[in-house]
Amino acid sequence: MKHPITEAIRIQTERTNQMEHSAPLFLTSSFCFDNAEEMRAAFADESDDNIYSRFSNPNVQEFTDKMVALEGAEAGYATASGMSAVFASFMTFLKKGDHLLVCNSIFGSTQTVIKKYLPNYGIGYTYVSADKPEEWEAAVKPNTKMIYLETPTNPGLALVDLAFVNTIAKKYNLLLNVDNCFATPVCQRPIDFGADLVIHSATKWLDGQGRVLGGVVVGKKELINDIYLFCRSTGPALSPFNAWILSKSLETLDVRMERHASNALKIAETLQEHPAIATLRYPFLPSHPQHHIAIKQMKNGGGIVCFDLKGGLESGRKFLDRLQMLSLTANLGDTRSIASHPASTTHAKLTEEERLATGITPGLIRISAGLEHVDDILNDIVQALG
Ligand SMILES: *Cc1c(COP(=O)(O)O)cnc(C)c1O
Repeated sequence: MKHPITEAIRIQTERTNQMEHSAPLFLTSSFCFDNAEEMRAAFADESDDNIYSRFSNPNVQEFTDKMVALEGAEAGYATASGMSAVFASFMTFLKKGDHLLVCNSIFGSTQTVIKKYLPNYGIGYTYVSADKPEEWEAAVKPNTKMIYLETPTNPGLALVDLAFVNTIAKKYNLLLNVDNCFATPVCQRPIDFGADLVIHSATKWLDGQGRVLGGVVVGKKELINDIYLFCRSTGPALSPFNAWILSKSLETLDVRMERHASNALKIAETLQEHPAIATLRYPFLPSHPQHHIAIKQMKNGGGIVCFDLKGGLESGRKFLDRLQMLSLTANLGDTRSIASHPASTTHAKLTEEERLATGITPGLIRISAGLEHVDDILNDIVQALG
């Protein structure tokens, strides 16, 4: 077994008879068989032959195999977006009468799925705090089936101790389902700490260039087989083109993340004493309240830095208006640095109380550190701070 980052470069699922070096694109909705027996065997799951691109496709398989290698998983299934991966993991394993334990600061659309749609299917939930581990065990109910969390959280960069949560999951026989989007597998591997399922929005750092949507679930073989059967019937398949893009992206994930993280660290170190900033958070700064967890489970602090402006909402808006280079956009995890102000944009629909409960103060700014020269990123941020 080679190193995971080598696998992410070298895995090649399929070649044509041209023996091309770079993976070809298999833009086809279905695959042919030579005879009735081959076709029967494929439909009977007696061969690995591709049948139809909603079930499998060589480009999708290549991306999936690389993610399986990177996360140290047994199997995976790639989906059209991060949200379809999240939804598939819920619908495959939760049924009427089940209960879900959720970390309070999670991605907005995931919150919507949990609060607005899961109750329609008779699935209950309880939110617990990322930074209050004592709440987790007390919230387990007899019908709890799954623990769902993100670490670091979005946008507040709170951390959840994966080894600790895993002890609760194992004690009560719960599925531990981790959205590893913010860290990426080159920085943090939840399966090494006991996670059963790991989810990604490939749209973010995995692509890293802001081009395509995609998602993936990886984990134990028998669990992924259930995910596969759900997705094969319900249809959130990743397109071969997006998979081809994403598979190429994984070849550079490790080197890209190293630079994203070193740029983020430099930004965090430089800005932490800035007079316009009340507090600043970055997992690999000793001032982060959960720094001890960061160094235990992460290889670096990742590419996101967040800080709270002293002037609140108005300062947040002014900061965005003064930026000259950083992009104002809803995405994160791009070669181009991005600034966002959650209170007036992505989280504006929540009440002030709901925002504060997930760590979103009025002046909170989230920076996704790009790959530009760090001095240029810093110069823009500093001039915008006024
Ligand atoms: C963006 C994101 C998602 C959703 O992914 P899409 O690809 O946009 O569907 C899920 N979780 C986290 C943490 C995200 O940042």
